[in-house]
This record gives sequence, C-alpha cells and structure tokens, in this order.
Amino acid sequence: MTVNIDSLFRSADPKVSAVLNRALSEKEISVEEGLTLYKSEGSDFHLVGMVADELRRRRVGNIVTYVVNRNINFTNVCIKQCGFCAFSRDFREEEGYLLPTEEIVRRAKEAYQLGATEVCIQAGLPPDMEGDLYEKICRAIKKEIPDIHIHGFSPEEVLYGAKRSNVSISEYLSRLKEAGVNTLPGTAAEILDQSLRDKISPGRISVSDWINVIKTAHKIGINTTSTMMFGHIETAKDRVYHLAKIREIQKETGGFTEFVPLDFIHTEAPMYKHQLHESIRPGGSGKEVLLTHAIARIMLNNYVDNIQMSWVKEGQKMSQLLLMWGANDFGGTLINESISTSAGAGHGQILRPKEIKRVIREIGRIPAERNTNYKILKRFENSQESEEELDKVEDISKFGSYIELTKIDKYKYKNPREM
Ligand code: SF4
Repeated sequence: MTVNIDSLFRSADPKVSAVLNRALSEKEISVEEGLTLYKSEGSDFHLVGMVADELRRRRVGNIVTYVVNRNINFTNVCIKQCGFCAFSRDFREEEGYLLPTEEIVRRAKEAYQLGATEVCIQAGLPPDMEGDLYEKICRAIKKEIPDIHIHGFSPEEVLYGAKRSNVSISEYLSRLKEAGVNTLPGTAAEILDQSLRDKISPGRISVSDWINVIKTAHKIGINTTSTMMFGHIETAKDRVYHLAKIREIQKETGGFTEFVPLDFIHTEAPMYKHQLHESIRPGGSGKEVLLTHAIARIMLNNYVDNIQMSWVKEGQKMSQLLLMWGANDFGGTLINESISTSAGAGHGQILRPKEIKRVIREIGRIPAERNTNYKILKRFENSQESEEELDKVEDISKFGSYIELTKIDKYKYKNPREM
C-alpha cells in the first residue's frame, strides 16, 4: 500500500470530517458536533488542530498578543473552601495574609513604572470584609495612577461585595465602575453546571449568579474575560455545554474579550490530595489540553476572537503547541502569580516581555503587546528591539513570592473581631 501525504491527512471518520468542513465554512458548531471532535483519533485528531489553527489565522492573523500586567492577590483569607483551591486560608490559620491598601498601591505603581498597563486584582473573601473595600482599593490606585487599567474582582467577589454592602449586583457593579474598575476577570466559572459545582466547590457562586454578574457587567459597559477549568471530574460533554453557554452569553451581550481554558493544577489541590472524588483526574492529558483549546476556537468562532493559553499552567513548550492549536493570546507577564503556583504549578510567577517574545518567535509568529481590551500597542516585527523596563529587572526575587507573603508578620491577617 502506498502512503502519501494526501492519504495521511484524510479524515478517517466521516462524522469528524463533516464537522470540520462545516467549521471551515464558518458554520456554528453544535454541542453534539463539538463532542464528535473530542472523540477524534489518529489523523482526525491532528485535523482538529489544523482546522482550529486555520480559523485562528482567519480571525487574528499571525500575531500573538500579550499584556504587561501584575497580579495583586491582596488576601488569601477566604470564607469558602473550594476543592480545587490551594491558595486560600481559613481566617484562623497562621498563613493568612491581607495586604494594606498602601502596599497594593505600591505594587501597582512599581508595575506601572516597569511598563505594566494593567493590574489584575483578585483575592479570597475575608470574613467581616467592609462592603466598600474593593472601591477603596480602586480609588487609591486610580488616584496615584489614573492611566492603569484595573482588571479586577471575579463574579464571586462582586457577589460577595454586593452582599456585604447590601445592594443589588447592578448597583454594586456601577459603584465599582465609578471607583475605577475597567474590566472583570471571568474567573469562578469552572464548569457552568450546577450539579458538578456542588461537588467540586459547594457554596461557590451558582451558575445563575455567575451568569447574572457577567451579563449585568456587560450591560453597563464592563467587559469581562471568560474561562473554564477542566481536567478534574468533568466530562467532554460538560466542556462542550460550557462552551455553548459562553457562546450564548456572547451572542446576547458581546462583552467577552477572550476565552481562557484553565487546566486543573492538581498537586496541592485539596480535592485531589485527599481524593475526594472517585473519578478525579490530575489535570487534562496532553491530548485533552490540545483538543480543548482547538474546540474552543472552533465552537466560539465568529463570537470570541481571542483564545488565551495559560503559560503558568502549561509551561512554555506546551504553550507553543497551543498557539498552533487555536490559541492566539499569551496572557500576561503576571509578575506575582500566586494561585496556580500555590496549587503546585512549577512554571514560575513571572515571564518578562523578552521571554514571551522569544517563545512566540520560536514558532514563527509575531509578538505584539496589547492592552486589556486587545488594542495592539506595539508590534515587534524584528528581534533587535531594545529591552523594556521589566526586561531589565534581573533579580525577580525583589517582587516577593506567595510563600514569603504568607510569612511576613506585618501582613498577617488579623480578624477584625479580635482587634
Ligand atoms: S477559589 Fe476563591 S472563593 Fe474558592 S476558596 Fe479559593 S479564594 Fe476562596
């Protein structure tokens, strides 16, 4: 039998080729069709990646974007106990910390001086929190750095802040906007299926509340990202239904800037360490990770242009593969990544722009710095450009690590009821 390129790249399963042909004709892919793609094997598996890559090229070309930003996770003290979260601490635990507003502002200013255009502010939910804490933080940052983009407060935090302030979601979001919040992270989504959430994070924001916060934010002009955490107890069916929900919201509001598949980091996650669920997996397999990014590109085609991979979770080399499997955005420099690091990810807390550019160039694509709303700020066509401010920081230990933060006495969380 003669094997040539044409025979190698012929779909073996007519169902898969029918779905991929519809995707290439820019047709909307249903949940059943998405599920067919998840079942692809052999050459079909590779064809899914090729089609996702083609749709990526049509939508956004050969540019790979990134944002220069800093994460400020100002407290790890949290009233909830999500099964996947190794970051949070109970308020009685020794390692609980809370950064004062001056320190949050100092971190934001330092990042701005090093070229950051965004600060990403997310944290635990401390008991007895003042309802207007988030507003105060934003006002203090904007007073010092009016130009910085505040990407802050997940739907879970918005719901908590609204409850602590005794106001509606809509009123609370308007207050946040007024105080300087520019966009919200669409985290706390995990999988938008209530029975599954009740297993992995009982007491977490419900599906309907998550959707309500997101739609309300979009309606009042606050864009958000969208995310999905996979590789734990969910099935491929759960993932495609999640993608379809994201697509329906986007059709209605148009407020999502991007979609980010987030691979479950298992090492320190309580639900994995203590094997709380029979079917729990240690994150997605390589095949699942590739397919999830590709199927996200295919199912969200024409609705969400930007698919981001997470270098923190996947590492640099897998990130390069994902950029050839439908993703087009590299995420941010982060500077102080804590959430995945505390769960056991070993890919670092910062990547400098020069490192991000190298990783992108190694696969023949063009790096470009963007702002949070995906406006291109600088394209880097040639590799000889001068270093950026953040590139010049040789010793990244000056930014501090999550572990150090949990041990600094002056930042130790003090329960207001005991003060
Ligand atoms: S994921 Fe968020 S809400 Fe859940 S325990 Fe961790 S910090 Fe708290």
